[in-house]
Amino acid sequence: MTTSADDHTRLPARPRPEPDALSAPYWDGLRAHKLMLQRCRACGRVRHYPRPLCDHCYTFEHDWQEARGEGRVHSWTVCHHAFHPAFKQALPYALVTVDLAEAVRLQAPLRGSDPALLRVDQPVIVDFEDIDDTLTLPCVRVRA
Ligand SMILES: [Zn+2]
Repeated sequence: MTTSADDHTRLPARPRPEPDALSAPYWDGLRAHKLMLQRCRACGRVRHYPRPLCDHCYTFEHDWQEARGEGRVHSWTVCHHAFHPAFKQALPYALVTVDLAEAVRLQAPLRGSDPALLRVDQPVIVDFEDIDDTLTLPCVRVRA
């Protein structure tokens, strides 16, 4: 028979992103508590997640800009089953899809509020969680 402490020590490691040359500015930005978005040099459209070319004009050239960190709730789901064992102890948690002010969507976990109080179009802000010394992830909080 195992105890909960034994179970905790046997949890698999959390899956981690694998930054590459294309996405490194995004991950580096998060570590600096900045949400960085790609902006097409040809048509000016902002895109997220990081990808090689603009899905509007198919141009490869882009710059990075810091997001305002504000948006509104598009939708959410409350997870009651872990898709990976490493997240089991976080259950239940809300994963929110946010319409950012830059007209792109971001998915991030909700922090600091009861998911039962979420509403479509509710103002939220992007915040940052330092997972460890090399990984920071975005989260969202309901704007006061
Ligand atoms: Zn473009």
